[in-house]
Amino acid sequence: MPDFDGHEQIWLGRDDSRGLTAIVAIHDTSLGPALGGTRVWPHESFEAGLTDALRLSRGMTYKSAIAGLDLGGGKAVIIADSKTQKTPELLEAYSEMLRALDGQFYTGEDVGLTLEDADFLRARTPNVTGTTSGGSGNPSPVTAHGVFLGIKAALAHRRGKDRLAGIRVAIQGLGSVGWSLAKKLRKEGAFITVSDIDPARAQKAVDRLGAQSLMGDAILEADVDILAPCALGGILSRETIPLLKASIIAGAANNQLATDRDDNLLGERGILYAPDYVINAGGLMNVAAELAPGGYDADATMKRVERIPEVLTAIFRRAEAEGRTTEEVAEAIAKERLGRGRS
Ligand code: NAD
Repeated sequence: MPDFDGHEQIWLGRDDSRGLTAIVAIHDTSLGPALGGTRVWPHESFEAGLTDALRLSRGMTYKSAIAGLDLGGGKAVIIADSKTQKTPELLEAYSEMLRALDGQFYTGEDVGLTLEDADFLRARTPNVTGTTSGGSGNPSPVTAHGVFLGIKAALAHRRGKDRLAGIRVAIQGLGSVGWSLAKKLRKEGAFITVSDIDPARAQKAVDRLGAQSLMGDAILEADVDILAPCALGGILSRETIPLLKASIIAGAANNQLATDRDDNLLGERGILYAPDYVINAGGLMNVAAELAPGGYDADATMKRVERIPEVLTAIFRRAEAEGRTTEEVAEAIAKERLGRGRS
């Protein structure tokens, strides 16, 4: 597997009678137990699901390291259609797999796994975070807040000021994070262009935020200042990067770069890229706070989220000074932290 990067453990959970095929990838636990959401997605093949888990779990290691958390990186992927195949029986079988990993892997909400699902799992196994009952709740608004602050940091770096009034932002994906982000941006006077494969979500943004709605991949070519990918990953590729009109990419989606080399293409085009696992770390900070010795503290978490712009600005500046891409610098900072060990 090209995306295998010395991962410590890869677990396969399979229960045909209850429809479960799950992969838990634990990338690196040198800073602490692995934490990462569970994605439920109908990958076209087992290899595609494994690749997703390998890449996402590595991203979680870097995300935790840069966020200053004493946590490792892991991620789970359940290969299933969340709308038609995510039955209580499947989740029951998955909870048994998670129970076997208690102490090594903590998980929670991600694309296709809802807060209700997290509550269902938490009732059966302790290693589930971000639940509504006794947990930190939905991490998405916190993620959106971090992305919002990160967008302002990118704007300040590029244009010298972070005023959003009149700035045109395209948002791909109006789910939990995208919708919350859209409202924040509109409130500060940004013009919003949106796309979602669910037409009702796009229409809501048109009706309530005066957004312009585009179909399909046209969002990537929208004539905007900022593109905020908030759907799935792999959208910045050799094929799409030449089409982009935005000069800043700053959004919540994990693994936005299709391959590790695509950041160079963005650099060549002079596009400022906010590395995804830095700008979208707010949700992780929120769920990680549950595992802190004193338990969840909303104020302390928000203070940590408010440092995201500072971290991003340092990455932007160092990338320019060293003639490297922002992704390379983010990875270097994460590895430096991994080298220093626990805080
Ligand atoms: P979500 O499932 O609530 O929303 C995703 C939205 O994207 C949905 O509305 C879906 O219809 C839409 N979508 C899917 N494919 C699309 C496409 N090709 N074009 C346009 N729209 C499309 O997910 P979310 O929780 O909002 O997360 C969004 C992204 O941010 C994901 O990549 C997730 O991994 C990442 N992320 C989320 C959090 C969090 O706290 N929720 C934290 C970090 C990263």
